Amino acid sequence: LSGSNVKVAVRVRPMNRREKDLKTKCVVEIEGKQTILHPAISNVNKADPRNQPKVFAYDYCFWSMDESQKDKFAGQDVVFQCLGENLLDNAFMGYNACIFAYGQTGSGKSYTMMGSAEQPGLIPRLCSSLFNRTVQEVREGETFTVEVSYMEIYNEKVRDLLDPKGSRQALRVREHNVFGPYVDGLSRLAVASYKDIESLMSEGNKSRTVAATNMNEESSRSHAVFNIILTHTLVDLRSGTSGEKVSKLSLVDLAGSERAAKTGAAGERLKEGSNINKSLSTLGLVISALADHGAGRNKSKFVPYRDSVLTWLLKDSLGGNSRTAMVATISPAADNYDETMSTLRYANRAKNIVNHAVVNEDPNA
Ligand code: ADP
Ligand code: MG
Repeated sequence: LSGSNVKVAVRVRPMNRREKDLKTKCVVEIEGKQTILHPAISNVNKADPRNQPKVFAYDYCFWSMDESQKDKFAGQDVVFQCLGENLLDNAFMGYNACIFAYGQTGSGKSYTMMGSAEQPGLIPRLCSSLFNRTVQEVREGETFTVEVSYMEIYNEKVRDLLDPKGSRQALRVREHNVFGPYVDGLSRLAVASYKDIESLMSEGNKSRTVAATNMNEESSRSHAVFNIILTHTLVDLRSGTSGEKVSKLSLVDLAGSERAAKTGAAGERLKEGSNINKSLSTLGLVISALADHGAGRNKSKFVPYRDSVLTWLLKDSLGGNSRTAMVATISPAADNYDETMSTLRYANRAKNIVNHAVVNEDPNA
């Protein structure tokens, strides 16, 4: 079985109000598949490595900084065409797929994944396109069913964002010997149309926002995971036998990466007792280990999936049975230089991860 690398995209958001008012210098440039980070300081010391532009290559580089640059501007539609369409193709073939957004707080993760009513992001576009396809592609003797779940991981605790009872109880992660890790008791709601998903999403998002106002900064510290489960049932009308293909799409809006840097996602050892960032730090360690495997180095290096809730749940999406893409979101502004550099490096490492996706077919049915 041949593997496929994690697809890595970088997206540059526009300057925000404050940055415009302060006339902050733009230090990011995009040229085809390259992202160039220019020095933030026009320093006299030419020997300082921070005076050299840094060039990184990725699968996609999205310039969302300036809408007036028609030839290179990438809006929500372009991001969806490049990352979303392909993911849906895979889902309809029965593969698992995952997109996660990584970047510092305020860099555009939620804008990219969820977006707004006027500028819907990847999740609503995926959902709406998924329903169009289930209608178009359905044949006699076939059915598609769609289910969704939506959760938040905060301080290593899982909370159901779609719990009809509105309970704020923490849920437990368990591992099934065939189906792998799952959240025990997480609601999985059947949806019949895009409208259904839309109302669930907005309920879930509200429940996220409520929490954010109750607990300081929670949304920048928590991970939101939206899952779509597509089941394709085929019945052979002559023999009456049926078979199933199930694929899971995981869409992940990660906590702000500034927290990862502070607890050592760069590969240092974790400090004990700091649960808040454990999932993000462990993600960094998992990515490092997998990137080493993918690059042919240190094949036996241990991958600490089970060290955090997030990596345990994403086990299949990281180096496992999934087609996976990462969107690294960055600010164009000079004063975010250090965070942007760290995000670009992190994204660079993720390019080496090789996944082995197989169709989730039930052969005995
Ligand atoms: P994060 O989730 O990474 O903390 P957000 O997605 O909330 O960041 O983005 C911060 C702000 O910047 C929001 O007001 C958002 O609407 C805006 N923004 C982010 N990315 C873009 C983009 N590509 N185009 C336009 N506005 C954006
Ligand atoms: Mg956000």
